[in-house]
Amino acid sequence: MTVDDEIQATLSEVFGFTSLRPGQAEVIADVIAGTPVISVMPTGAGKSLCYQLPAVMLSRRRSHAADPSQSGTTALVVSPLIALMKDQVDALSARGVASAALTSAASPDEQSAILAGIRRRAFRLVYIAPERFRSPRFLSALAEIKDCLSLLAIDEAHCISEWGHDFRPDYRRLGDIIRDLSPPRLVALTATATPEVRTDIATQLGLSNPAFHIRGFDRENLRYVVEPCGGIDDKAERLVALAKNAEKSAMLVYAATRKRAERYAAALTGAGLRVRAYHAGRSIAERRTAQEAFMAGDLDAIVATNAFGMGIDKPDIRLVVHADVPGSLEAYYQEAGRGGRDGQPATCVLLANAGDARIHRLFIDAANPPPAMLRALWKAAHPGPITADPAALGRRLPDRPHPMQVTSATRILERHGFLSHENNQLTASRPTDHPGTFPHLDPKAFARRAAADHRKLRRMLDYAYHPRCRRQLLLDYFGDREWRDPARRCGRCDGCESPGRAHARSRTKPPIKRPLSSSAADPALISRLQALRTRLASEGAVPAYVVFSNRTLQQLACARPQTRAELLQVNGIGEMRLSAYGDAILAAVANATP
Ligand code: ADP
Ligand code: MG
Repeated sequence: MTVDDEIQATLSEVFGFTSLRPGQAEVIADVIAGTPVISVMPTGAGKSLCYQLPAVMLSRRRSHAADPSQSGTTALVVSPLIALMKDQVDALSARGVASAALTSAASPDEQSAILAGIRRRAFRLVYIAPERFRSPRFLSALAEIKDCLSLLAIDEAHCISEWGHDFRPDYRRLGDIIRDLSPPRLVALTATATPEVRTDIATQLGLSNPAFHIRGFDRENLRYVVEPCGGIDDKAERLVALAKNAEKSAMLVYAATRKRAERYAAALTGAGLRVRAYHAGRSIAERRTAQEAFMAGDLDAIVATNAFGMGIDKPDIRLVVHADVPGSLEAYYQEAGRGGRDGQPATCVLLANAGDARIHRLFIDAANPPPAMLRALWKAAHPGPITADPAALGRRLPDRPHPMQVTSATRILERHGFLSHENNQLTASRPTDHPGTFPHLDPKAFARRAAADHRKLRRMLDYAYHPRCRRQLLLDYFGDREWRDPARRCGRCDGCESPGRAHARSRTKPPIKRPLSSSAADPALISRLQALRTRLASEGAVPAYVVFSNRTLQQLACARPQTRAELLQVNGIGEMRLSAYGDAILAAVANATP
């Protein structure tokens, strides 16, 4: 029996499924072969089967083997979702797969019984809640059963990363646990496909060369379009035209700020359309009515900030318009992805203006206030309670920060227990036994976060001004190998439909990237850059155009960038190429300078 036959037999006999889904096959094959795997698939894609099937198959193998003492029989599954854990154990038991859950809800006796069961090889899968790792006794008990393990699976693996949306400090112990248990097979699974989180998972788990399998993020029924736009008035006008064209179906509009959401909503209302604004500045009742009207199909458009979306599942949204450039491709893809949930075609339009980035730079600075400002704010509350109004508070601070920065600084201080917030008043609380000292808030962590946020914003802008296939850029960003080739085309975005002319519609052109200078290209530099490209391509085993295109080469030769910042101004040089090839390119240019 080949491995594929074994997989197929287990799939149909135990799980009752006829075939694997495409993303599952590769993960399962690698897991069984013993390659550490990081798998990223959207929610609902079927990640559980990627460890459940190998777990069952490996134990079936052992029961057929001549010497049953040789290999492990139990898969350990780390999962933070205790409620779901019980469902999984029940579902597996119903299929005749013996399994158990080790959570803090189980009594010490129950826990010992499960550990003893693992030693007796009574379970195929045992789920573990990460907080169990806090107990040293539990960890030493775990070390004793290490020979019984066939596999360690880490579900919701983004919880290990502080860049993720659900960081759990207990997950940080997994690196040590993997070292101690050295499980024969390892798989980490998540639905979060951001590049930072992906690589962070590998680093934190101590995996030097895992197989990344990232599949299933393409939404084939979505068409992507970018329209360069002028200022707010221009955008409002464009929204009216789009809404009037949209016929019967409601348009979902995202705006970067509450103020802009109101502004766009007013323009649409002024044009005789049925519209509601939805953002955190509106009362809960207003938001509920707006949402209900939208769900019921009583609106032509809803104009929202990113406050809108949680739990919204209107399947027949045909048009999602981002009136402003969002702060990251993650946010964009998630919001645009609210279109076409029914599988029918939908269009995602981005109205791009280079100036939109300013708002996000402000957001980023606000979210990462300098520690000196945190200290000043905390001190201001010491003589007695102060008003929580950000504008008034800002006036009391030496550096006059933006109210948004004050709001976020207040939240950070509250979260860390330096301030308490009641009846619109802030009171200083003393979190340590040493009144007057300001305990440690890591300034480096704020700086790291800000730098990461600025990188994400730049990638978003790369998308907005991308001359080629937008789907390729998106899926490549999210790590889908099948879309890694920059020459790939989807045929369902403006970049493919009118290549190189995606921006021809622009009325007020706001190009983000301008040639630095228009001096003529030096032929010696051109051949130098060509040689460099050949070398880099062969070193990286990639085609030459992956290093940089002919057009970029020409621009480099004309612009002669001297710094990394100048290099980023060149068309075709984004963050990725900058970090991969930036130094080499700058050196080549510098050496060729007469
Ligand atoms: P995820 O963890 O990726 O969100 P789940 O593992 O919970 O997804 O699976 C989602 C659903 O898909 C489950 O009901 C599961 O039984 C089903 N499923 C998984 N793999 C297959 C398959 N190969 N064929 C049919 N159904 C499947
Ligand atoms: Mg899952």
